[in-house]
Amino acid sequence: MAKPSKEQSIALSQLKDDVLEQMRTTGIENESRLNSLNSIPLAVLRRNATQRHGVTRFRCGANASELKSEDVQTIDLHPMLLDPSWHDYARFVLYHEYLHALGNRFHDAAFRRLEQLWPHEGAERGREFTQFLRQRTATWLWACTTCDKKYPRKRKANGRFRCRACSTILVDVMNTQEAN
Ligand SMILES: [Zn+2]
Ligand SMILES: [Zn+2]
Repeated sequence: MAKPSKEQSIALSQLKDDVLEQMRTTGIENESRLNSLNSIPLAVLRRNATQRHGVTRFRCGANASELKSEDVQTIDLHPMLLDPSWHDYARFVLYHEYLHALGNRFHDAAFRRLEQLWPHEGAERGREFTQFLRQRTATWLWACTTCDKKYPRKRKANGRFRCRACSTILVDVMNTQEAN
């Protein structure tokens, strides 16, 4: 986790207002539970994180079988989600983390039902965001010499992988796009 910059804090607080307002309108939680979410500090993940888009961190020593929002230390979002082009997905990620913060620990059927109550577009952009992060941090492109598809990756393929589109064995090409 990293301390958010001033601009990031402003963006996070705007996201929070949007998401809590939506949860209030949709009637997803009662007022006092929503207010308890309001006081959870928001922060950002490391810039080069690629595995996670958001994370809810509970305090050490919190009772794992009975987690509540008071036990949450922070919710961290990926800093790239704060770019306006990702705001629809960012709101969904924060909503997802708030569901965890309310004590829903696992991605079980009940969790997925709550998740589906989110009424906006954006929820479906998770894969796209993962691809975007990979592209930024990839050292290698696994390239298809038949159909020209490229798969950004941190490690070399070493002849072990085939193109998803046409099954040609992929070759390693250095990714020259500047990672930042
Ligand atoms: Zn989750
Ligand atoms: Zn191909």
